Amino acid sequence: MNIILLGPPGAGKGTQAKQISDKYNIPHISTGDIFRKNISEKTELGVKAQGYIDKGLLVPDELTIDIVKDRLSNVDCKNGFLLDGFPRTVKQAEALDLFLEDKEHKIDYALLIKVPESSILERMTGRRVCSKCGASYHIKFNPSKVAGKCDICGSDIIQRKDDSEETVQERLDVYSRQTEPLIDYYTSAKILCAVDGTQDIDVVFENVCDILGR
Ligand code: ADP
Ligand code: AMP
Repeated sequence: MNIILLGPPGAGKGTQAKQISDKYNIPHISTGDIFRKNISEKTELGVKAQGYIDKGLLVPDELTIDIVKDRLSNVDCKNGFLLDGFPRTVKQAEALDLFLEDKEHKIDYALLIKVPESSILERMTGRRVCSKCGASYHIKFNPSKVAGKCDICGSDIIQRKDDSEETVQERLDVYSRQTEPLIDYYTSAKILCAVDGTQDIDVVFENVCDILGR
């Protein structure tokens, strides 16, 4: 099963992705996580990407598309994959379609997690993430069991630099200008499915499983 997750920043894509990946046994591929790993390792890609990420802008398509193609060529993707945070532009979506067509594959579901802009700021400024595995927590809605430590791997949980109020506003603008057109793109392809992301995390996951099959 080949799935992409769509939705504004803070919709809950990463939160749902961990559970979907476990249940359906497909790798969770987050371009944001890939960039953050490269930034922490100070690779050439990380250095290039950081300036854009810190400002809340998208990393250019030329840098992003090749990383995803590379990752999807990995053997662990042969029975499916879950893309989280990619595609974010129509150009990325077209490049992904072409890449999959070449391999006689396709996207099965474009899952849109719908959350209104009014809920996003509280979600993003209260978000905390594991510095090692990227698991996502929230100080109010989804706190870790032990304060400051990840439930999954025990590493420190931190606040992302790009989750400041100012950067979140920029990211929301970028989403509506550059990423929202993908809703029409995947509606036309007849693979768009939407879930109400304002419900509790477990209820959203139940809705997702209703769509993907149990
Ligand atoms: P995204 O990957 O779409 O940017 P995350 O999965 O990191 O979003 O979620 C953003 C924040 O909102 C996190 O702090 C997360 O714990 C919280 N969150 C995720 N899903 C829900 C939900 N259904 N209800 C309340 N808070 C949520
Ligand atoms: P995320 O972890 O998905 O919220 O992504 C964090 C940041 O990484 C984004 O705000 C962008 O700057 C960058 N990024 C992640 N995925 C992409 C993508 N597909 N295209 C361009 N930039 C991306």
